[in-house]
Amino acid sequence: MTLFPDMFAPVMDASILGRARDKGAVEWGCVNPRDFSEDKHRKVDDRPFGGGPGMIMSVEPLERAIASVRKEGSKVIFLSPQGDTFSDKKASELTQEGHLVLVCGHYEGVDERAMALFDEELSVGDYVLTGGEIPAMLVADAVARKLPGVLKKEDAVESESFATGLLDFPQYTRPRVWRGREVPEVLFSGDHKKIAEWRRQAARSATKRKRPDLLSRA
Ligand code: SAM
Repeated sequence: MTLFPDMFAPVMDASILGRARDKGAVEWGCVNPRDFSEDKHRKVDDRPFGGGPGMIMSVEPLERAIASVRKEGSKVIFLSPQGDTFSDKKASELTQEGHLVLVCGHYEGVDERAMALFDEELSVGDYVLTGGEIPAMLVADAVARKLPGVLKKEDAVESESFATGLLDFPQYTRPRVWRGREVPEVLFSGDHKKIAEWRRQAARSATKRKRPDLLSRA
């Protein structure tokens, strides 16, 4: 749900997400609250009561826009810097939902009473963006790539950073030597058990070095 639907196709129809949509593994669409404004100028925002800078998105167009798409089992999520922080775990949980409605705020935010329309508030981190569009695409991407049929090799998802509680192991491709730096010998051994053990250890040491906070939880 966005006032800027044109922002979505360049991201959502490109690369892996675009292929996933072509195959029918995911479907997405945009609804513009402006189309639900009853104002003759299609206004969707107004000045804040009590004064202050900027404009606030009005609750009524949002209410009608959400009602136009909400169906049994829909989960309506408001993207907001004030929400719970989005994570890999949350992305996995959201794969269990059949229909996500991702509501993008803009300007100074939305009328507080609109919170009654949302099932959940999600933040993408402790910083403020100009709108919820990038956060919505971020959530859509992270959730979609966990759905069956989206990535070519589904088991790629299982070893990735965070899925195991650790960061991913280091990966290499050709050339075998680059500026004197060699690919670890074990990866040419053909011994799958040894390679798996090396990767497990390498994932642990990468996690220890870069994200020791994860290691203590893993
Ligand atoms: N005044 C609001 C506040 O301080 O909480 C921020 C409004 S922000 C400029 C406009 C919109 O961008 C928000 O309503 C939200 O939809 C989106 N947004 C900004 N930062 C975000 C974040 N970290 N996570 C999710 N959405 C965000």
